[in-house]
Amino acid sequence: MANRDDVSRELAECTKCGAVYAARQWPDGTIKAIGSERCRCGSAEFAVVETDEGTVPPDETK
Ligand SMILES: [Zn+2]
Repeated sequence: MANRDDVSRELAECTKCGAVYAARQWPDGTIKAIGSERCRCGSAEFAVVETDEGTVPPDETK
């Protein structure tokens, strides 16, 4: 089983169109958007958006 402590929740921004998604960053540096492997524009490359600790994205409040 995966160790949940090794995965951090982040905001990730599509490197192509700039759309922001809730994402997980794995210990090896892989960033995966939650809910979809790819951005709506078709790109699968994301960059972590730095956020202040304690900031909760609006999508996380559901
Ligand atoms: Zn995109």
